[in-house]
Amino acid sequence: MIRENLEQINKNIENACKNAGRELSEVHLIAVSKTKPVEMLKEAYDAGCRLFGENRVQELTEKMPVLPDDIKWHMIGHLQTNKIKYIIGKVALIHSVDTLHLAEAIDKEAAKAGCTQDVLIEINVAGESSKFGTADMDVNKQLIKDVSELKNLKLKGLMTVAPYTDDPEENRVYFKTLKKLADDMREYFDGEPVLSMGMTGDYMVAVEEGATYVRVGTGLFGERNYNF
Ligand SMILES: *Cc1c(COP(=O)(O)O)cnc(C)c1O
Repeated sequence: MIRENLEQINKNIENACKNAGRELSEVHLIAVSKTKPVEMLKEAYDAGCRLFGENRVQELTEKMPVLPDDIKWHMIGHLQTNKIKYIIGKVALIHSVDTLHLAEAIDKEAAKAGCTQDVLIEINVAGESSKFGTADMDVNKQLIKDVSELKNLKLKGLMTVAPYTDDPEENRVYFKTLKKLADDMREYFDGEPVLSMGMTGDYMVAVEEGATYVRVGTGLFGERNYNF
């Protein structure tokens, strides 16, 4: 099932790239494996997935050592400062920096560990109160400037979790907004700005609007069961 799902997702990404006149090589799929057992991650790995996303530090640190070394792990969930030390330098990218306080704490841990940590800033484009980050663009621009100055971090770009909707077209405006913010602030990013946006319900629209990472869980692994 995972292999078939992956084939379909890759086809959809390819089509979205064609629609937008983008190169397929610009878009990377993150297999969001939170709550899923290691056996399912292995299946996805065997089908070709090399980027995995998790939202809890404990789950990440349990799964990492039992899966192949060439996997790049992505921390996509809210991160508490006291847990940074468990993942610093071990994850390819932290997508969820939403305050300067958290960025400074990551910077400090990276210095201690003698590494540089790649990060994204999470933007709450739609201003949903249930989500982390803010929709205030002045605040976001200042946060981008401040984080870009931290020595042991590399600010690679921006991430957003768009609202849950049955109609992905409703989220197009939010993806456009994130892309515009990244373009406006381009000088503060390390390299070409990375855009982490799009999930199972809306990743094709996100790719059309410039996503460089899409984070797909349900569409690849099936529905999640949180009561285990
Ligand atoms: C769970 C999660 C996803 C994947 O969501 P699906 O709708 O299952 O594809 C993507 N991004 C973040 C931040 C998540 O927490």
